[in-house]
Amino acid sequence: MKFLFSKFLLFLFVLGFSHSFSQIKNTNERPKLVVGIVVDQMRWDYLYKYYDRYGEGGFKRMLSEGFTAENTLIPYVPTYTAIGHATVYSGSVPAIHGIAGNDFYVRETQNRMYCVQDEEVNGVGLNPEHKAGKMSPRNLLTTTITDELKLATDFKSKVIGISLKDRGAVLPAGHFGDASYWMVDGNWVTSSFYMNELPTYIKAFNQKDFTQKYIDGGWQPLYDLDSYMNHLKDDNPYEEPYVKNQKVTFPIELKTAAQEVGRDIIKTTPFGNTLSLMLAKEIMEKENLGLNPANVPDFLAISLSSTDYVGHQFAINSAKIEDTYLRLDQDLEDFFKFLDQKIGHKNYTVFLTADHGAASNPQFIMDEGGNAGYFPRNDMMNQVNDLLEKEFGHPKIIYAISNNQVFLNNKLMAEKQLNREKIKTLVIDFFKAQKGISFVADMEKVSMSSIPDRIKQMIINGYNYKRSGDIQLIMEPQWFNAYGSGTGTTHGAWNPYDSHIPLVFMGWGVRPGKTNRTTYMTDIAPTVSAMLHIQPPNGNIGDVIIELTD
Ligand SMILES: [Zn+2]
Repeated sequence: MKFLFSKFLLFLFVLGFSHSFSQIKNTNERPKLVVGIVVDQMRWDYLYKYYDRYGEGGFKRMLSEGFTAENTLIPYVPTYTAIGHATVYSGSVPAIHGIAGNDFYVRETQNRMYCVQDEEVNGVGLNPEHKAGKMSPRNLLTTTITDELKLATDFKSKVIGISLKDRGAVLPAGHFGDASYWMVDGNWVTSSFYMNELPTYIKAFNQKDFTQKYIDGGWQPLYDLDSYMNHLKDDNPYEEPYVKNQKVTFPIELKTAAQEVGRDIIKTTPFGNTLSLMLAKEIMEKENLGLNPANVPDFLAISLSSTDYVGHQFAINSAKIEDTYLRLDQDLEDFFKFLDQKIGHKNYTVFLTADHGAASNPQFIMDEGGNAGYFPRNDMMNQVNDLLEKEFGHPKIIYAISNNQVFLNNKLMAEKQLNREKIKTLVIDFFKAQKGISFVADMEKVSMSSIPDRIKQMIINGYNYKRSGDIQLIMEPQWFNAYGSGTGTTHGAWNPYDSHIPLVFMGWGVRPGKTNRTTYMTDIAPTVSAMLHIQPPNGNIGDVIIELTD
């Protein structure tokens, strides 16, 4: 009897469970469209620094309707644009996806390679032999979320990438993308990797020449300049003028400067982002993205680069960068409204993140009494090469320092049977003693170096044997290689200003909320893959952010 009773209890228990399980429906529902937005050089704090000035429909809408991962970090050095885009879309790191810098040196040839350079293809929409058109994703060694979507839907999903920068358009669209468009001389172009002729509607869009209209209109601030948060005067020593010795102050006249530096000046204004989102809308209309006849999701990968150009030019404390973000917020509001109306609110999923952040201008930090500096990289390289020559009898044993990595002439060392270990030790000891250097690591022995774990892991993730240097230099915080005239800003370091990025999801499948847990740039691709019910990209090392899914 007792036995029967317990069996009865078990039966009730199982019934109860199976009932509650049956309420969870695992179906193949998916969004009609995924829109990936990478805001080039957007630091995480920009979500909040200008929050009070943002409208309700842009960044604020994403934060209130969506899910924000507040502590999203980049898990590698160096923190540059091409690597960021490759990582966001592959869930992988340079060690695996092979995009080891915007430019990198190939170990075998010791030649410099641009991340998306491809001599086998030609430009489309510009002179076919123009260098700026010879671009493709062939240097990317892994698949992307967009590739996996293509594979999962038998290539029925449409995938298009757009950005002012070739690398921001090409890498996110992956190897199987239908198209990617970037801007050269104010026009949208592509390469023969994708097609042999621009679509008629892109040609027509170029003919309307919105670029020239924005150049002619100039750049006025949205609000009274005195009301801007960034306290630096519009005319300050940390900004780089468009044309040498011609100060850039509001209201900014762009026409004359464009005659000097070319129509691509538009990229270094907020209107480069406006033009990118205008093109995004045109593509959505003409390609019917999100309304796929095969009832599969489409993917639009947008990278907004003006924020990076403006930051490099005018530094992060400028009224110009503030105005750029306030205008971007308005452009995003307009774009989200368009998506609501075209695809339907909650039928699309959008994520917004960044490829890297940016440091304060080093001179500005020094003037305010902080630790910062400019590392004289080329002088240092010459000095250490002289030492090496004295010791080993050969000039230029270091052939480059790039991406904060020292590239040794391994070919020469092998040919002349030089003692490679001895050379490395000399180089490491030399750099360790220099002002502004925190750590110097032999790339093959990083795990044995006395470097804090987080930085160690970032070096290892960023190290691709065939495309990275032999020795990694880690600068002190706020120290950068002496670049140009030292105005504006730059990035590339492990520090939070460069590696802490925004990550906000909104729309279909996204539960509103936030997490303060540490998440990584590499978690974006597996999370989007999970929402789409497709495999993560083939080099993925990230994890699904489970808190955000419905
Ligand atoms: Zn940059």
